Amino acid sequence: MQIVNYQKELDKLIKKIEQGTDEKAPTLFLHSCCAPCSSYVLKYLRKYFAITVFYYNPNISERAEYEKRVEEQKRLIQIYNAQLADKPVNPKAEGFPGYPIAIVEGDYDCENFYKFAAPLANCPEGGERCFLCYELRLRKTAQLAEEGSFDYFGTTLTISPLKNAAKLNEIGLKLEQEMSGTKESRQDGMTLGTPKWLVSDFKKKEGYKQSIELSHEYNLYRQDFCGCVYSKAERDRISKRSISRIREDNGENIIVIKRKP
Ligand code: SF4
Repeated sequence: MQIVNYQKELDKLIKKIEQGTDEKAPTLFLHSCCAPCSSYVLKYLRKYFAITVFYYNPNISERAEYEKRVEEQKRLIQIYNAQLADKPVNPKAEGFPGYPIAIVEGDYDCENFYKFAAPLANCPEGGERCFLCYELRLRKTAQLAEEGSFDYFGTTLTISPLKNAAKLNEIGLKLEQEMSGTKESRQDGMTLGTPKWLVSDFKKKEGYKQSIELSHEYNLYRQDFCGCVYSKAERDRISKRSISRIREDNGENIIVIKRKP
């Protein structure tokens, strides 16, 4: 099976946007899992897209943790938008920092998560439960992107070395196709009014490393478990017997688990 480098695909798209003559920036409805993961992604993409962050994560346990993460997301966006004051607004100008970022908060409808996740409680992180969890969040993102006539929809999730970027892109592309299947095709092969999936693998080009640095810079709350009650239990089990760390090596992330002797 051919392995696709989704970062290279994104590079090509960005080049096209940079060389284009469109006065308006393409709009992007971007699902975000948390402030730390979005820190690098927003800084990188805001130069090319008018972004609306969609904070939709009903997988997070419990509500207090959810609230903490969403508040941190809003705080980061405020910081980024404040950086635009007195800066060039023309994207072709030197020092253009990017477009303002908006945010939409989704519902905390966790019953939709538990419907499929509870029977998969013992599934290890990175398995089937996670794939369904990705799809739950991306499906809602796609639906609202379509309703809001966005040009693109995407997710910050591909920045995490613990997330399966190939699977995330596969789901995103499937959703794009599902939506375009209901629309009239144009002669050039594009479809009218269908948001396109923004392919990505943000951990490449040291994206993950930069997200850690930005999290330190803005003093962002960095949780040490993915989000759901099952990942929290797994975190508790691991932290009892080992210390795990992640390091970055030429854009490829390697998980190093050091067990206590
Ligand atoms: S571990 Fe993370 S991605 Fe997997 S099901 Fe739980 S919250 Fe979702």
